[in-house]
Amino acid sequence: MEPIKIPTQPAKRRRIGVLTSGGDAPGMNGAVRAVVRMAIHCDCEAYAIFEGYEGLVKGGNLIRQLHWEDVRGWLSRGGTLIGSARSMGFRERVGRMQAAKNMVLRGIDALVVCGGDGSLTGADVFRAEWPGLLADLIASGELSAEQVEPYKVLNIVGLVGSIDNDMSGTDATIGCYSSLTRICDAVDDVFDTAFSHQRGFVIEVMGRHCGWLALMSAISTGADWLFLPEMPPKEGWEDDMCSVITKNRTERGKRRTIVIVAEGAQDRQLNKVSSSKIKDILTDRLGLDTRVTILGHTQRGGAACAYDRWLSTLQGVEAVRAVLEMSPKSPSPVITIRENKIMRTPLMEAVQATKDVTAKIDNKEFDTAMDMRDAEFKEYYNAYLNTAIPEHPKMTLPEGKRMRIAIIHVGAPAGGMNQATRAAVAYSLTRGHTPLAIHNGFPGLTRHHDDKPVSSVREVTWLEADSWVNEGGSDIGTNRTLPSADMENTAKCFELYKFDALFVVGGFEAFTAVSELRQARAKYDAFKIPLVVLPATISNNVPGTEYSLGSDTCLNTLIDFCDAIRQSASSSRRRVFVIETQGGKSGYIATTAGLAVGAVAVYIPEEGVDIKMLSRDIDFLRDNFIRDKGANRAGKIILRNECASNTYTTQFIADIFKEEAKGRFESRAAVPGHFQQGGKPSPMDRVRALRMAIRCMEHIEGYAGKSRDTIAADPMSSAVIGVKGSQVLFSPMGGDTGLEETETDWARRRPKSEFWLELQDVVNVLSGRSHANTKE
Ligand code: ATP
Repeated sequence: MEPIKIPTQPAKRRRIGVLTSGGDAPGMNGAVRAVVRMAIHCDCEAYAIFEGYEGLVKGGNLIRQLHWEDVRGWLSRGGTLIGSARSMGFRERVGRMQAAKNMVLRGIDALVVCGGDGSLTGADVFRAEWPGLLADLIASGELSAEQVEPYKVLNIVGLVGSIDNDMSGTDATIGCYSSLTRICDAVDDVFDTAFSHQRGFVIEVMGRHCGWLALMSAISTGADWLFLPEMPPKEGWEDDMCSVITKNRTERGKRRTIVIVAEGAQDRQLNKVSSSKIKDILTDRLGLDTRVTILGHTQRGGAACAYDRWLSTLQGVEAVRAVLEMSPKSPSPVITIRENKIMRTPLMEAVQATKDVTAKIDNKEFDTAMDMRDAEFKEYYNAYLNTAIPEHPKMTLPEGKRMRIAIIHVGAPAGGMNQATRAAVAYSLTRGHTPLAIHNGFPGLTRHHDDKPVSSVREVTWLEADSWVNEGGSDIGTNRTLPSADMENTAKCFELYKFDALFVVGGFEAFTAVSELRQARAKYDAFKIPLVVLPATISNNVPGTEYSLGSDTCLNTLIDFCDAIRQSASSSRRRVFVIETQGGKSGYIATTAGLAVGAVAVYIPEEGVDIKMLSRDIDFLRDNFIRDKGANRAGKIILRNECASNTYTTQFIADIFKEEAKGRFESRAAVPGHFQQGGKPSPMDRVRALRMAIRCMEHIEGYAGKSRDTIAADPMSSAVIGVKGSQVLFSPMGGDTGLEETETDWARRRPKSEFWLELQDVVNVLSGRSHANTKE
């Protein structure tokens, strides 16, 4: 994530309107909250336009100023609290003229619109017409030239709020991961029945023109077959589908069959492929007891997941920055995200590219449509095919290129470890490699009994790996012990089992383990094979990446915990909860969770805790509770990373707060502990596990057939895969520019530079803490 700079100079006082439009999406409230508070922080006024464009057209009470306290608690609320509508009025010029008049009369000179491509098209039309609308209002005498003069320039910024993730130019839209979470929860539940009765389920998910939800849910749940609007199956698909499902059930032994269908699924002639048609095929041809489940509107509702909360928050903040930085000539931007980087893209370009994809689909140019959706979409689609469809003959490598790929988990368990392993196994089998699971980490590998190795290394079958599709933790077992504990035997075992490559999934220990093996290559030829780390740790503290598998699962677990605990205070006295997070010496989880739950403050090891800080926070909390007029009596949250301070423990801080609050508020400590490692992995961890694991396998394959010395001479032969800004990259471990030397703070077990540190500012701005501190 690119750090977000908070303007320190008060901007020109502006009135910024914010509206939500089109279908509601979880996270829209987080966006409105961020726009309102960031606007106020920047010395502007924030106005909510209720009921989408309808409110802009009708005006009156539908346009209201929102104050700091008005958006308290909004982060955890589903839907959109300022309402949304499909406004026919705004589609007409006369309606837009009325909207322009209402804005001028209210002094609103900038608009942040959160909605789908339709809403953003409307926004662009409005901006393009603005001078003409004002001229007409003057000509008709509805407004005078003097009234209009200060509003000659209208700034519009788009935020993409839509569960479909159908906007080009952004990896994710606000709401899409929450919706994906709803779908995966539902399919996970259906699994049990499907397994018990050996049934087939055809599950229809939303997505009229865009198959993102269908594709990602198919990956997350290991669906047997998938129907997307943009990539219809080739002629004769009925036979292909039946053949794959038969193979999965009879040869591979799968008891359950899941088919995911996007509501806009179609064949190559653009005829609808309905869920009932698929059900009939499976029932009639295979005699499979098949049921249809149409998930419908459950996919839209509910509280936003962690990703949507921080995405909407950071994008809302960025939208206000964009408003304040725009010149009269700059094109309207839409705020987007690529991998981990929040960006601005010309709004109309993004809308046009989105429409172009739909046009290509309508024109039956499916491959082009697929290419024109984001590159990531196509990569995920291919990854799904390569892991889900058995015996893909075109994918199998010739004999000399096939490898024995060892897979090991190192460190604490984290969501996504199983899914990465599943993907590596499925991909390896498709390519003709031999995937070998090492059980229980390095001690498992080198375990001996009566001087003989006890094999914890074995080939994994497709069916076994497939069963890990939604399981948390590490099924093959993980261990923190490093290879240096027994390097000699580790090398012997590498030789014994004839490893051609090692795929390591884990956290900082995994990183350290590969560093040790790389350095031990000088002594042991056995380690002169490709060694690749896929970071998986809730602490997200591995050098070379801004994202580790498991961190999203942890965040979701933490926000559920915080929401529940905060709610518990609603009927009692005013209460602040000091909640201790894991994360070791990295404050990533505490800070990101702070952003996602709207914490009052976050205490992290990077910053430490001191008595002055606590004293200021007590004053801030006291003020805060006074201003809280009782409308929202839920508790407040302070997050403290477990290593933030040796002296100021979680309980101690809670006790000081209680003592010093002098009866104004209560304070309690809470420690979720290992609960944070989460149950089932979040869909984001599941899909990213697949994508990253396959990239790792492809990277490993690049070394097939090369000599050991050639491999050892290549710095990229020991590497970490990671998200860096807007890209997914491999970084070498060793060498002058390698991660070990340049990016690792070995003593504190974290990267030297932590990309997320400036997010602390955003937490403080949106809680009002930074303002309170600068008042002194
Ligand atoms: P979703 O992705 O959930 O469908 P959306 O933003 O695409 O959301 P739409 O119903 O297409 O939803 O658009 C929402 C509103 O935006 C419309 O009701 C209308 O008021 C306005 N709008 C859409 N297109 C235009 C346009 N071309 N000109 C003016 N206003 C428009």
